[in-house]
Amino acid sequence: MQTEKQSDAINGQRLVARPAVIHVEQLTKRYYMGRNMVPALRGVNLEVKQGEFVALMGPSGSGKSTFMNLLGCLDRPTSGHYLLDGMPVSKMNANQLADIRNQKIGFVFQSFNLLSWMTALDNVELPLVYSGLPRAERIKRARQALAIVGLKSRADHRPTELSGGQQQRVAIARALATAPSLFLADEPTGNLDSKTSMEIIAILQELNLRGLTVVLVTHEPDIASYARRQVTFRDGRVLQDTGMKDWIHITSTMVQKATLTEETTSQSLASINGEQVTN
Ligand code: ADP
Ligand code: MG
Repeated sequence: MQTEKQSDAINGQRLVARPAVIHVEQLTKRYYMGRNMVPALRGVNLEVKQGEFVALMGPSGSGKSTFMNLLGCLDRPTSGHYLLDGMPVSKMNANQLADIRNQKIGFVFQSFNLLSWMTALDNVELPLVYSGLPRAERIKRARQALAIVGLKSRADHRPTELSGGQQQRVAIARALATAPSLFLADEPTGNLDSKTSMEIIAILQELNLRGLTVVLVTHEPDIASYARRQVTFRDGRVLQDTGMKDWIHITSTMVQKATLTEETTSQSLASINGEQVTN
């Protein structure tokens, strides 16, 4: 576990010095169902700095998924401002949002949403098809992303030949393939048993330690306790925000194995991000 003193810094750099990946002001979202209006978000204010690991909590219907869909540029707000990496995405049109989504966002859902007729490798390669990269480079990156989640040896398996936890790891690899600056996970452990859930959380912690900004939705307090900050929603608003604090760091045997037997996580992530690997 980290000490209290370390907890206000991310990877040695103080939080205040970090740029905001997410800056949201007075964000609202209303759904219209015939004559009925559902105020799903009623003015959300939130800032998430680069390298944070935030858990969004709150009862069913409190607006968590609606908020995640706005953060992930899958939908547009009714009103308010959203700056993603400093860019005003709330003003963008559908085409611009699709580009931003592909460049900056990695999204993982409760139901893994893999294409059943494709292999793990093909699923992970898919978001790169729109990147304009040559096929050889796409496959290299997809293999690196699978290595990060410890599934290099399962590249040729189809989703039905994988366990739930492995399928979610493929989905995480797919989300990582484009080297996003923001990783969003909406109840990623909702369909998994507690041991498998821990493996998924361990991977997210590992990615966060390598610098990735993570926002995770969960209604399970024990899962949320593995994040560094908990934000609670109630009736479409932020009810409570713990700010950065101590976290419980887990090291799963699976991640250790992935780190030892596959290319190391940091090297893979660095090379996916196009950085020089120095050690
Ligand atoms: P949570 O993820 O916290 O369970 P949601 O964001 O899914 O909450 O839902 C917030 C509110 O918005 C709920 O009242 C829900 O019924 C409503 N809602 C969500 N999506 C839609 C939609 N596509 N159309 C109409 N109402 C919706
Ligand atoms: Mg939800």
